[in-house]
Amino acid sequence: MWPDHYINIKLNNIMCAKIEHHTQNITYDGLLQGNRDWVTATLAEDPTFFDRLSAGQKPPILWIGCSDSRVPANQITNTRPGDIFVHRNIANVIVHTDMNMLSVLDYAVNVLEVEHVLVVGHYGCGGVNAAMGSKQFGIIDNWLTNIRDVYRLHNDELDVLTDEKQRFDRLVELNVIEGVSNLTKTSIVQNRWANGKKLGIHGWVYSLETGLIKDLEVSASSNENISRVFKMNDGQ
Ligand SMILES: [Zn+2]
Repeated sequence: MWPDHYINIKLNNIMCAKIEHHTQNITYDGLLQGNRDWVTATLAEDPTFFDRLSAGQKPPILWIGCSDSRVPANQITNTRPGDIFVHRNIANVIVHTDMNMLSVLDYAVNVLEVEHVLVVGHYGCGGVNAAMGSKQFGIIDNWLTNIRDVYRLHNDELDVLTDEKQRFDRLVELNVIEGVSNLTKTSIVQNRWANGKKLGIHGWVYSLETGLIKDLEVSASSNENISRVFKMNDGQ
């Protein structure tokens, strides 16, 4: 999602023109009207919708994705309010000092008892792109340094890719793969598995160009493959 003019360079012009035209029609009052229209349409289709949802939530999925406005969890998976618990940040970075992410993860895993955690990146991610360059954008550069660490870890694989788009796409994927790995290093996930609970951690990448999600097939569902250095036990 960062920054718009930067990402626009990477997208085809027709698509950008459509996006700009669309966003120009969004106004403050229009959002409130849109909300009223949505309530009317939702009740027409399902009169008990709000009664049901207001009673509580039990989503089976936690989604950790990018803040990018073009990657909304519900729409692109054809799901509805109540289906997915969502955490988003710029470039779907997963670091162990992020209290926001850790709180969401702990609540989702131990209170909501989600069965799947999805780390969802997207090709064309402005945050990942910015991390590939040397231009400063402000405080966000510090956040994106986490992605530079991903690059450093996979330097050999990335540097041989001479095609810049290929290298960009692969870093998007590796950022997701490292995100999945970072989740498995948390005491939250490891304890859940140690207690015999079902929990799958998965890595996905969404294509802005096709609308399709690619499963990177890096799913983890037990403590088995965690390297010794990162393995913890709860003292029992
Ligand atoms: Zn992004």
